[in-house]
Amino acid sequence: MQNDKLHSYIEGLIPERNSLFMEMERFAVENKVPIMELAGIETMLQILRIQKADKILEVGTAIGYSALRMAEALPESTIVTIERDVERIQFAEQFLMRSGRGEQIHLIKGDALEVEELVRRQAPYDVIFIDAAKGQYKRFFELYAKYLSDDGLIITDNVLFKGLVAETEIDSKRIRNLVKKIDDFNHWLMNHPDYNTVILPVGDGVAVSKKKR
Ligand code: SAH
Ligand code: MG
Repeated sequence: MQNDKLHSYIEGLIPERNSLFMEMERFAVENKVPIMELAGIETMLQILRIQKADKILEVGTAIGYSALRMAEALPESTIVTIERDVERIQFAEQFLMRSGRGEQIHLIKGDALEVEELVRRQAPYDVIFIDAAKGQYKRFFELYAKYLSDDGLIITDNVLFKGLVAETEIDSKRIRNLVKKIDDFNHWLMNHPDYNTVILPVGDGVAVSKKKR
């Protein structure tokens, strides 16, 4: 967010999470796991409550933090979540087990671009949440949008990439390429004929796309 003081103020108002979530948040900081930023996830959870999502597809589980937060916010929901990193899968499984909400969450182990059949079996989804490799957002979107329910939402995290999408001078070629991919995705998404999209400048930038009826 542009204004650091306001951002700290808002974060300071958010009540503490339960002890397992607080532990996961610390674990993420210590182990550099890019879980969703606090204000960003609180915003998304509120949208999911308003949407009354029953079935959610998440691309990018990491250690299961956002999946568990969604499961807690929507106790009747089922979350199908995909992760390819073997080590993170192990941590996710441990946290899911300890949470007592394991039943609500179906973890698909593999590359999101290769597990379509498993995803299709549990379709349709009321919400698809994309939070994985930033260079591949368009591919994730195009692959899974067909499994979205008619009233569904697609939520995409990190679309402002620490504000770098608005920078003109970036030294690192790798970062510059990634920024270009995200910027291209944002333009493509904002002009998609089948969706109305808004980009919320909260957390690392959260795009909310509503399928047109
Ligand atoms: N949603 C999580 C954070 C996800 S971080 C949370 O907020 O708690 C992004 C994760 O996506 C990483 O763990 C990475 O391993 C995974 N990932 C990236 N590309 C992927 C792909 N193609 N298929 C499956 N997982 C992927
Ligand atoms: Mg993210």
